Amino acid sequence: MEGVLPSVQEKVRCLVPARTGGYAGGMAPLDLRRRPLKNLRLSVTDRCNLRCNYCMPEESYQWMPRPELLSFEELARVTDVFLGLGVEKVRLTGGEPLLRRNLPRLIRSLAAKGGLRDLALTTNGLLLGDMAGPLKAAGLHRITVSLDTLRPDRFREHTRRDDLARVLGGIQAALDEGLPLKLDTVALRGTNDDELEALLEFAKERGAELRYIEYMDVGGATNWSMDKVISRDEILRRLTRRFGPIEPVRETSSAPATRYRLRDGTVFGIIASTTAPFCATCDRCRVTADGHLFLCLYAKEGLDLRALVRGGATDDEIAQVISGAWAARDNAGAEERLALRERAPLAARRELEANPRLEMHKRGG
Ligand code: SAM
Ligand code: SF4
Repeated sequence: MEGVLPSVQEKVRCLVPARTGGYAGGMAPLDLRRRPLKNLRLSVTDRCNLRCNYCMPEESYQWMPRPELLSFEELARVTDVFLGLGVEKVRLTGGEPLLRRNLPRLIRSLAAKGGLRDLALTTNGLLLGDMAGPLKAAGLHRITVSLDTLRPDRFREHTRRDDLARVLGGIQAALDEGLPLKLDTVALRGTNDDELEALLEFAKERGAELRYIEYMDVGGATNWSMDKVISRDEILRRLTRRFGPIEPVRETSSAPATRYRLRDGTVFGIIASTTAPFCATCDRCRVTADGHLFLCLYAKEGLDLRALVRGGATDDEIAQVISGAWAARDNAGAEERLALRERAPLAARRELEANPRLEMHKRGG
């Protein structure tokens, strides 16, 4: 404990302005923009079996040493602390979460926790053919599969792996298991802009909700440029040309996707993080597979929870540190990016090498 907790707490104390009051037990306080902490994205590995051009375009990466990854017991414990602070939704991610061995064991222990309203997982689908059954049996509530193209040649070029058929098989396996399914498509000019309509039809035919995601200038997206972004407005224009009038779905939610309905009742979402960020209602935080807490996808610094977990801190002490950090949270990374006059990738390759946790595949997309 000594030498670990005091330094982290000191760091948090520096962050917490006196007026927030910090942790007084129970739920996390609102952050400085009056946003609650409701949503945890838990990365279970930084490894991946694809190399999507918008996420992992480089030839080589540094991997987190295995002993540094939080064990299932540690992940479950950290999750408990977050639930105690008011988190209601947990999404397992990565890297590719299905690469983490025995993942259903973790899911079983998380699914048994009271207070967890929503337990979801985001995957590239490659290993889902074999895993859909065990994931469902373990108690996973729902699943999101990333799908950017329906063309095998394009998939190969975009991900550097020739595996679209396995992803499609994985999607079918999830459907066969009756797992509620969403499909996420990053809209990329020059890559899949001629497939946006076909992807929506693919989702509709399978009773899955499709969400388009604007290409983001996050850490790791070193090929990003604004001209490759297809904005929400442009997506809506294109879909209107094909499907006719589109109306917004009226709802109040802190979810990042704005949802829309086609004339035939098909509902889809758009996550416009690049051109219309949702920072004002962002209630999420991320924990990397090696236990670092990030309060914003764009944050450059994280908080080392693993040092607390392994350093002998009690649950209450860990809760206190998280709560203090949340109380001092003022992040609105995507809004700050939007305000930039010259917009370029968040970090250049050298900065990513020096600070790998900046990478999207490390902090959990
Ligand atoms: N490997 C899993 C997958 O691909 O679904 C989970 C991790 S991945 C980082 C999570 C999500 O982030 C995916 O839907 C992916 O498309 C998205 N993503 C990665 N890089 C992105 C970028 N530069 N802009 C927008 N979305 C991105
Ligand atoms: Fe693609 Fe997900 Fe792997 Fe990134 S983490 S390269 S988005 S499959």
